[in-house]
Amino acid sequence: MKSSQNRKFKPCKCGSIQFISKPNQYDIYEITDTKLELVNSETINDEFILYCRECGEELKNFSDFIT
Ligand SMILES: [Zn+2]
Repeated sequence: MKSSQNRKFKPCKCGSIQFISKPNQYDIYEITDTKLELVNSETINDEFILYCRECGEELKNFSDFIT
């Protein structure tokens, strides 16, 4: 484990303590002729970014924390 597990995170400058993953990265399903099909999958492979749920501010250097 990296020493970054001792990293201390602070709430966003807006005061929010909740963060969400990138809003436009998710699987998209579509119903075609009563069948449910996966039409697009946007996965996070090389970079994982979190954003403040309230103001959208990016949580910096988060990828250093999750190894
Ligand atoms: Zn914020």
